[in-house]
Amino acid sequence: MITRNLPKRESGAPFKRTPQRLAILAYLKGNTSHPSAEDIFRAVSKKYQSMSFATVYNTLNTLSKAGALRELTIDPERKRYDPDTSSHHHLICVLCGKIVDIPEGIVVDLPGTLAHDFTLLGNHIEFYGHCSRCSRKRKTA
Ligand code: ZN
Ligand code: MN
Repeated sequence: MITRNLPKRESGAPFKRTPQRLAILAYLKGNTSHPSAEDIFRAVSKKYQSMSFATVYNTLNTLSKAGALRELTIDPERKRYDPDTSSHHHLICVLCGKIVDIPEGIVVDLPGTLAHDFTLLGNHIEFYGHCSRCSRKRKTA
């Protein structure tokens, strides 16, 4: 039975705590909206006006590589970032791009033949659909 999903990077080298990195981490702490780099830049640059988009983007890359963030590629439009690096799955609204956490509890297993040939480290399940807000909008439109 597989209960872990994306394993933390093994190369999780400690990163230098620069003011930019700390500002981005502070913004993301406890944030469950799975923001994009653009969202993060918009929020953080209000307080740190000298911070460029490139800095935010590069910082997100560094933090993801260090295992401090999880990079999500389920939104076809743009990468999204998740400060929750624990094992969980996601639900995405294909209309507005909202990403919702699914706590653990989905049991998936590989068919036997594949399981023999592959050392499994984790999994990540993506569910697609319409969120309640978008469904309502569609009905009343
Ligand atoms: Zn939606
Ligand atoms: Mn999440």
